[in-house]
Amino acid sequence: MKNSKIIKDKKIREITRSFDLPIYVYDENTLLKSAKQIINFPNAYGLTPRYAIKAISTAAILKLFDKLGLHFDASSGYEVERAIMIGITPEKIQLTAQELPNNLQELVNKGIIFNATSLFQLESYGKLFPNSNVSIRINPGIGSGHVKRANVGGPSSSFGIWKDYIPQAKQIAKKYNLKITKLHTHIGSGADPNVWEKVAQLSLNTVKLFPEVHTLNLGGGFKVPHSDHEEATDIENTGNAIKNIFVNFFNNFGRKIKLEIEPGNYLVAKSGILITKIIDKCDTGKDGYNFIKINSGITEITRPALYGSVHSMYIVKKNETEINNDTEKAIAVGHCCETGDILTPDNNNPEELKPVNLKKSKIGDYLIVENVGAYCSSMSFANYNSFPKAEELLLQNNGKVKIIRKRQTMEQIIQNEEMN
Ligand SMILES: *Cc1c(COP(=O)(O)O)cnc(C)c1O
Repeated sequence: MKNSKIIKDKKIREITRSFDLPIYVYDENTLLKSAKQIINFPNAYGLTPRYAIKAISTAAILKLFDKLGLHFDASSGYEVERAIMIGITPEKIQLTAQELPNNLQELVNKGIIFNATSLFQLESYGKLFPNSNVSIRINPGIGSGHVKRANVGGPSSSFGIWKDYIPQAKQIAKKYNLKITKLHTHIGSGADPNVWEKVAQLSLNTVKLFPEVHTLNLGGGFKVPHSDHEEATDIENTGNAIKNIFVNFFNNFGRKIKLEIEPGNYLVAKSGILITKIIDKCDTGKDGYNFIKINSGITEITRPALYGSVHSMYIVKKNETEINNDTEKAIAVGHCCETGDILTPDNNNPEELKPVNLKKSKIGDYLIVENVGAYCSSMSFANYNSFPKAEELLLQNNGKVKIIRKRQTMEQIIQNEEMN
């Protein structure tokens, strides 16, 4: 089995004795390490590293990153409000959203940076704030993602102003006397440094068309492996490749462009595990499957069901003295009455199931799902089947766990419903 466990089995058993399951546990040390890497990302003429709030938006995590000096990328007006509410300086927040918040004017007046992701958004911003500076998101025409639906660049993506419509964007800017000072191209570039180079080059080619742009934001998408068969982005190599392209751009055009990056996944994915309990086991005969049922599922981790993402997982025996080296092939399924609630899809064909190899387990043992720091707690099918949102813990550097989000109560689940 894996030897690079973020949290030791002994600690996991300890947690199961004090808390109800399922529970997310995030390792502070892992968070600090990844933050440090991103803050030290190679750059030629300055860097603003942002954390993409949507990856996990729990206050304790945002505050930790704020203290370390990261800025923030918000995906909705609500994320902006959430961040401001817990004390993050508005000037550190950039909004890149599919939906314009109704209170955009108020948020911008507070100091947030607005990034227009469509011609309509640019026009709307121009009406509210003529004679000002603005950032725009461009879809440069290439994308990177393991399935079409996970693509955030290229023709299958609706994010950003399509590259051929730059003249229209300029026209709108002129109409409202907007100065386009920042460009943004988040396409989720992935693990391959060559793709990052290509995106940096393409994006800088676009910068040429905007003489007033001083900052280029290349978005997030630095890859973290969610299971053994995925590759990680080498931050040093990728960063240096990008840096060279910025230096060349200066040598050729005399413009020192500042870099922004805004990872979500890379900063948090590895830090989290989900501790679940095996609540039942069954099989469907010799030509069927062997199922492990857990007291969690799409209510805490929807990525496998949503786009076939496979997270590595392992068994921790409840009884630590039980010696057992047998393994079994199993499909892990969640607790919702919903066929899509599976944790082990076939990565290459998300419609299909793919058994994983696990240590032989009994009802009452624990199934640990790894790399759940990003897009799990923030992306859950909250309250489906009326399961409460799970508790979240931070395993601090001093070895102690701290509750950073309590389990939801039944009163909270139904609090806004009319009872009479
Ligand atoms: C989601 C998102 C990110 C973060 O993407 P990761 O793949 O988690 O690194 C960055 N920028 C924008 C605009 C996003 O929407």
